Amino acid sequence: MKIAVLSRNPKLYSTKRLVEAIEQRGHTSQVIDHLKCDIVMDENGPYIFYNGKALKDIDAVIPRIGASVTFYGTAVVRQFEMMKVFSAVDSLAITRSRDKLRSLQILSRSGVGIPKTAFTNYSRGDNKVLKHIGRAPVVIKLLEGTQGLGVVLAETDKAATSVVEAFESLNTRVILQEFIEEAGGADLRAFIVDGKVVGAMKRQGKEGEFRSNLHRGGHASVFKLSKAERETALKAAKCMGLAIAGVDMLQSKRGPMVLEVNSSPGLEGIEKATEVDVAGKIIEYIEEASSRKRLPKDKVKA
Ligand code: ADP
Repeated sequence: MKIAVLSRNPKLYSTKRLVEAIEQRGHTSQVIDHLKCDIVMDENGPYIFYNGKALKDIDAVIPRIGASVTFYGTAVVRQFEMMKVFSAVDSLAITRSRDKLRSLQILSRSGVGIPKTAFTNYSRGDNKVLKHIGRAPVVIKLLEGTQGLGVVLAETDKAATSVVEAFESLNTRVILQEFIEEAGGADLRAFIVDGKVVGAMKRQGKEGEFRSNLHRGGHASVFKLSKAERETALKAAKCMGLAIAGVDMLQSKRGPMVLEVNSSPGLEGIEKATEVDVAGKIIEYIEEASSRKRLPKDKVKA
């Protein structure tokens, strides 16, 4: 097979590992910068032009779409899907997972444990919306933040109201979330490939930090999930429509609570913590699923 990794940087750990795994399993690899793809369509069908040439011989793509280029990146993935090229991650599922509010709405509908969350159009400087959560401390999050940026812990009701007001004055939308104190500045990341947890790790934030993101100085170690944690992670990935996913969960008194389902989860932290060949598992999944899941041209979802 010819398998393309859609990535802007061939030097990234995840991109390099995927290319290695593609070659190791006897396939041909290509790294394609999705931002340099032109999307062209007419009545004869959809095309993608890359470096001035139409891409014709790709059998499968692995999207590694950065959060800052979700719109263009998912348009390229969708175009591949329209061309009947198998995508390891569904374009629609990437779009869903990138929006914190939309993800939580889907998880909540599916009965997946999540911290209680509220969203309001306009709080008018009062703390009515806060009442849905209970009371401070409360976590306030930008709708499209990543790597822990734009995640604020407001310790008092007054601080929460001021932070929401400040974001509103900048026309920036936020969600308010119950603070799960007992998580102790740690979270769990379950890496899922094709309905199985292939590895899990616990990330602990640095001293005095409630956010466990590795980018914020947290560290990761291999972790054995409980049955409830495994089931929650699998259910979360499934309801989001993601065959490959990194599910982030908090350990709470009420059981595992999902924070986020990542559609381009990094391989470095999980492979180093667990010593599992996650890249190899992804290619194995593509080999098996690309034949089984190919849809007839007129059935491709948009
Ligand atoms: P991002 O997508 O920017 O990483 P998250 O929602 O995953 O944002 O939050 C970043 C980190 O902050 C999480 O990994 C977790 O450690 C901590 N955190 C987020 N929400 C809560 C919460 N409701 N209660 C306790 N800790 C939280």
